[in-house]
Amino acid sequence: MKKVLIIDDDADYRRMTGEVLRQNGWQVLEAAEGETGLELVRQQRPEIVICDLLMPRCNGFLVCRRIRSDLSLRHTSVVVCSGREYEVDRLAAHEAGADDYLTKPFTPEELLNLLARIRPGGRDTTPGVMPASHTVAPARLKFWGVRGSIPTPGPSTVRYGGNTSCIEVRAGNEIIILDAGTGLRGLGRELMAEFGDQPLQLTLLLSHTHWDHIQGLPFFQPIYQPHCRLRILGFEGARRGLVNVLSGQMESPYFPVPLKELPGNIEIVELRDLDFQVGPVRVRAAFANHPGICVGYQLFTDQGSVAFFPDNEPHCRHEGTRAVAPTKKSASLDYARAEEQKIIEFLRGTDVLILDTQYDCAEYETHVGWGHGCVDDGVALALNSGAKQLYLFHHDPDHTDEKLDRMVAHARELAAQEPAALQVDVAREGAVVELASVAGHRTGT
Ligand SMILES: [Zn+2]
Ligand SMILES: [Zn+2]
Repeated sequence: MKKVLIIDDDADYRRMTGEVLRQNGWQVLEAAEGETGLELVRQQRPEIVICDLLMPRCNGFLVCRRIRSDLSLRHTSVVVCSGREYEVDRLAAHEAGADDYLTKPFTPEELLNLLARIRPGGRDTTPGVMPASHTVAPARLKFWGVRGSIPTPGPSTVRYGGNTSCIEVRAGNEIIILDAGTGLRGLGRELMAEFGDQPLQLTLLLSHTHWDHIQGLPFFQPIYQPHCRLRILGFEGARRGLVNVLSGQMESPYFPVPLKELPGNIEIVELRDLDFQVGPVRVRAAFANHPGICVGYQLFTDQGSVAFFPDNEPHCRHEGTRAVAPTKKSASLDYARAEEQKIIEFLRGTDVLILDTQYDCAEYETHVGWGHGCVDDGVALALNSGAKQLYLFHHDPDHTDEKLDRMVAHARELAAQEPAALQVDVAREGAVVELASVAGHRTGT
């Protein structure tokens, strides 16, 4: 039975609202204040929470924020209701993550209409992510930005693209974005064209906050749309929290619109765990060998897995698949091997590996310790971890299309010397990869 929780310190309102909902087939739970309500949300997982704004101990905004900060409750819809009719309260409720706002006193029709709008049919499926008319497409990823360090438009990068790090992953009804480099702008345009004014729910996973991984965010159209919800997940940096870093790049004098004034529903979550869910997609994170706090992610869809290490320098130099020298001067080979082994184990068996291979082998000699890898070591990492498909990624700003052609040809030669059937390609802006076609045997295609 569809389940609703009413959190309100006004017993009359709880009774009145509860009666209406029971008569319409809902199982009704009640709480007289926010803390108890949150406990019930976690234990009973109602589809909808109707929450009064002004309550002692834990007000409606706080209830919303606490529900929204718990990834396991992302399918819970929250309606804030209040006897006050201030527009600022309505906006604040949306900012806190509420799906809707209801002004007291409301009629039974108003309540039922609203519930039907946010939960058509009292459904048990994911709320308003894609219109019902969309058939669920195969799990896939699309490259929107493949360059490292700085965007490089121009005639020498036409084929592979000049935008910085951004990948879209679709799995079931989830749209997960990896990094917010300048490629994010094009993705935003396409999402707006596809979804129009339909509700849109997006999750952005940030590897780290270097410019080439966040600069597309101010130009991402969905953040200017009130009907879009964007959750940004990432790890805290050493000096400032994630919220401060992301809002900093949109402060005057860098940008005309401050992050906090955006009408889109943005939530920034600093991750603590290295293993979590985004809807049905399990996500694991591992720290990369790169200056500051930087992670790689691995996403497990029901049709195959993707690992994304946009910025990473292997801990060892390799000859074939053998570690032969530490890349950090002070490290012993044993230590470097052990560190590298952790990443290999993390990546073990991934279907698609998108990896920082910024340099060729000769260039790398003069960039050891910069936090980026070379093609030769990237191929070794892919082979050692048993990846099926390697995409060279984070292309150096100085590398032309022809240079990338030569690098992938070299990478394929290296891969061909080993028995594993590793496929190697260059990540190219606009390229789409269906995960089932890489994962192959798991799905029987
Ligand atoms: Zn980078
Ligand atoms: Zn970086």
